[in-house]
Amino acid sequence: MENSKKKLRRSGLSIMVQLVGLLGNLKYLIIIAVLGGYLGNAAAISVMTFGACSVAKLIDPAFTKMSLGLLIGVTIGSGVLRGLLRFLEQYNNHYIAFKLLAELRNQLFGALRRLAPAKMEGKQKGAVIAMLTSDVETLEVFYAHTISPVLIAILVDGTVAILVGVIGCPLLGLTAFFAYITIGILIPFISSALLKKDGVEYRKAFADSSAFFLDSVRGIQDIVLNNGEKERKEKLNQQSEKMNRRTVSMKQKSSAVGAISSLAVSIFILLSLYEGVSFAFAGSLAITHMIVALVMLFSSFGPVLSLASLPSNLTQTFASGDRILDFLSEKPEVEEKKDGEDFSFSGAKADHISFSYEEGKEVLKDVSMEIEKGSITGIVGPSGCGKSTLMKLFLRFYDPQQGQILYADQKRDAEAIDLRRINLRRINTASLHQNVAMVSQDTWLFDDTIRSNLLFVNPNASENEMREACKKASIDEFIMQLPNGYDTEVGLLGDSLSSGEKQRIGLARAFLSGANLILLDEVTSNVDALNEGMILQSLVEAAGEKTFLLVSHRPSTVAVCTKVYQMEEGRIIS
Ligand code: ADP
Repeated sequence: MENSKKKLRRSGLSIMVQLVGLLGNLKYLIIIAVLGGYLGNAAAISVMTFGACSVAKLIDPAFTKMSLGLLIGVTIGSGVLRGLLRFLEQYNNHYIAFKLLAELRNQLFGALRRLAPAKMEGKQKGAVIAMLTSDVETLEVFYAHTISPVLIAILVDGTVAILVGVIGCPLLGLTAFFAYITIGILIPFISSALLKKDGVEYRKAFADSSAFFLDSVRGIQDIVLNNGEKERKEKLNQQSEKMNRRTVSMKQKSSAVGAISSLAVSIFILLSLYEGVSFAFAGSLAITHMIVALVMLFSSFGPVLSLASLPSNLTQTFASGDRILDFLSEKPEVEEKKDGEDFSFSGAKADHISFSYEEGKEVLKDVSMEIEKGSITGIVGPSGCGKSTLMKLFLRFYDPQQGQILYADQKRDAEAIDLRRINLRRINTASLHQNVAMVSQDTWLFDDTIRSNLLFVNPNASENEMREACKKASIDEFIMQLPNGYDTEVGLLGDSLSSGEKQRIGLARAFLSGANLILLDEVTSNVDALNEGMILQSLVEAAGEKTFLLVSHRPSTVAVCTKVYQMEEGRIIS
């Protein structure tokens, strides 16, 4: 079931192309940003070039028909324009980047919606959260500081190479061309190869360390109470050390690459100077043209030099992009069903089910059981025997490898004898979630009011319906005595809300959702006897109208059940 192990590593180019593919209509904004950047760089080179033209005009008035005043005017105008265009380019790039981040987060959330709940089970959760936060931010670098510099460098320096060839001589144009290829492609390519491994490993170490850190924060109580601080701290230090080593190695290599790029610029400047002066001495190139062509060439390295500094970011971007593309294309354990059947819950059945998370490790073995409408059905058995897994199959987190889950619909078959039974695989996901709700071991309360925490499952519910649901879950009285009643912020209550109270809010939520079958996964395992009593009493009172499937390792909890299945090592034994 572990999809993330099959790492399909894309090439850098394929990642770039696919990341650009995510842009949608924002592509056009990028084109505007690139044009702005192109004109801005052209203006910067114009300042130097028209300055050189002014000098050439002083040396030889016949150099150009433009007056000296006009040449100086264009030089100054280019300078002002440069500033303005630079501002527009930066503004545009950041605007695009933030719009894109919002779009990307939207897409990732959509993917998460598809992949959850199976994807958010267990340890994978930390890695997913790390990706949603840090990988997405890394991509901002790609969109804001990679795509346009590459395009701008190609456009600006392509134009300059042609102009240098025309104003100076073809050989100078060719030299410029080779200089750009070396500095903008060859050196970054080599450095990218040098840094690739470090980048990927840095991102991996970062993701691991974030997941480990989150995990430690969640389990801080257990760590402190079990004297595990030293070991945990050591592991965290080891991970920081690993990241540190990668960072140092990357910095060393990227500094060396920076030095090599500067050296290459100097060599090409000397080479073109030598060529220009030789041609001028030989009389095949006017000194004025030589000056203008060389000044233009010397002032044109900015865009390609900015490419040389990209790879250290780019390798990380590729690693992040790769992970995000993997996530976006990941197949969910179970596809959302939309073209199937709707139903109205009237009972359910597990029919000779076998299931394993990993091949060869069967968690459920030929399990058959029935949930009658209006009953409280219990499954009891030791921890790890497969109770929660069986429950999750009723919500189609996963599909069983053998056997089937059947839901009975209220409508009867044509002969009006049997209820219509539908295989869960044919039921629409939305209809399943309308009919079946789940309360788990810990109810997650959002940082919002109690009212919002209840109503999100049924936004159209009236005040009366909301309170009725809470009364059924024996939590209305408690909420009403809070300072702001249902409008009390959960965050303000902090730890003063006991897990029993949280569970009762979770139960009220399930009642309010209108689901007819409510699955309860060890709901009382973290609560005190008083709360356990209240929750179980609620179930007894609501049974008949609602149906419950109650999973617990405690025989005392399932005492309220109308029917109890005993489970052991993946089998129903009685
Ligand atoms: P119970 O609810 O009875 O405590 P579970 O259904 O949670 O048992 O677990 C049954 C077995 O399946 C255990 O061995 C557990 O480690 C394994 N298991 C549970 N969830 C997963 C998962 N998402 N991936 C792989 N194995 C799992």
